[in-house]
Parts: sequence; C-alpha cells; structure tokens
Amino acid sequence: MKKKIIALLMTTVTCLSLAACSGSSSGADSESAPAEETTDEAAESGSAKLIMATNAEFPPYEYHDNDQIVGIDAEIAEALAKEIGAEVEIEDIAFDSIIPEVTSGKADFGMAGMTVTEDRKKSVNFTDTYASAKQVIIVTEDSDIASPDDLEGKVVGVQTGTTGDIYISDELGDDAVERYAKGMEAVQALSQNKIDAVVIDNEPAKVYVSENEGLKILDTAYAEEEYAIAVALDNTELLDKLNAALKTLKDNGTIDEIVGKYIKTE
Ligand code: GLN
Repeated sequence: MKKKIIALLMTTVTCLSLAACSGSSSGADSESAPAEETTDEAAESGSAKLIMATNAEFPPYEYHDNDQIVGIDAEIAEALAKEIGAEVEIEDIAFDSIIPEVTSGKADFGMAGMTVTEDRKKSVNFTDTYASAKQVIIVTEDSDIASPDDLEGKVVGVQTGTTGDIYISDELGDDAVERYAKGMEAVQALSQNKIDAVVIDNEPAKVYVSENEGLKILDTAYAEEEYAIAVALDNTELLDKLNAALKTLKDNGTIDEIVGKYIKTE
C-alpha cells in the first residue's frame, strides 16, 4: 500500500520534471510516458530493496545472534527502510570494505557504528548523526596505563580501518599498532598480555570487558565521535530520504526506544 503511494508520488514528480524540461509536453503522451520512466527509475535506485553494508562484529550496534544480524543499527535501518517504503538486506563484510562497497554502488548505504570523519567525507556523504560515541582505552586491571598520555611506547590493539586504528597510527606511529580483523580479537590479545591496550568504541568496549575477566576501561576517553550512515556521493536522493526518515524516527522516539533496548543507562 505504502509502496503504491510512493510510486504514485514519484510519477507525479517525474511528470513535473519532464514537463519542466521539455516545456511543451501535454496531453496523453506526457501522462503515459513518465509512468514507464518511473518504473525504471524505481528499479535503478533500488527503492524496493536497500543493501546495507555492515560489519557484524560490533555489539551492541551489529552482531550475530544465531543466524541473525541484530543490534541498534540493524533495527534503526529496518525502521528507516519502513519509513522510506523499502526493505533492507544486510551484507556483512570487513569494516574497511564498507566504504568501497558503498562508493562502488554494490551497497546502497553503510551503517556500522561508523564515525563521521573529514577524510571519509571525501569518499561518501554522511547522513545526520544518530548517536554519540567515544574511543576508549581498555587495559588490564593491573596496567600502569592510566590515561591516553601513557600509551606512548606501548603496543595498542585496534580493529583494522577504524578510527581507533587511524588515531593511534597517526599519533604513535605504525609500529605502535597491532591490527585485528575483529575488535573482540584485539581484546582477547590484551587478555593474553600480547598487547598493552585496546582503543575501541565505548559500547563494544563495555560488552567485551564484561565478557573477559581482568580488564577495565579507563575513565578518560581517547576521542569523542558521532555515528552516521554513509551513502555514495552521487546518491543525494537516498541521502535526503534517509535524513527525512531519521528526523521522523528521532522526533517520534523510535531511535531512543531502539537504543534503550540495547544500552541500559546506569
Ligand atoms: N566507530 C569506529 C569507526 O567508524 C568503529 C566502527 C566499527 O568498528 N564498526 O571507525
């Protein structure tokens, strides 16, 4: 039903723009021709099915629960798609493949607790932000590392291609970084004293620390960040739709409700 309404709206928009372009189209021709255009356009822009690229190794934002991918991002994406009149298909890939997947058009958007950065903005457009986050430092309970400054000269585990990876490589040099495909693997290496600390997003950090004994999160964060959805630079149509839908879901409390299901505030 909703799809039908959107298809009708799109027909109207197409008619308007065609009329505006040709200037002279009138009568039966302009009424029948755009209808076909609309069908093609809908198919091309993939409005019925949106492919979301993510890396489902990032609880509570996206993770595997049996054979399902669940989490805050998965649920927000579902709600956004519903607003737009589309369906989401989740593609689970390496974190550092998400932006290439979006820029190449293989995925419609990337949603993975992804931090907005100036550098990434050169490759993709970001929607409005939907969550605040932090990069935090995880250490062993008996560690002599008490603040970000103490990381100097230490070996820090990160997830490949994440902002943690970027900050630590930039500030401490490549030799200071140990890269892992999954954040959990970095945390396990820390548990086994193979590395000195892990720099990772605060919410997954809480999950990992609760699942591994003898670890703690330092009070002083490494960096403050914002999460948003990545869309191809030329797909402003989807960007606008996602932003409008995000606004609706923020205003009507859906986003807070979803976040509240996964993150319990102390
Ligand atoms: N927020 C971090 C980033 O965007 C990590 C995201 C992730 O590992 N899924 O780089």
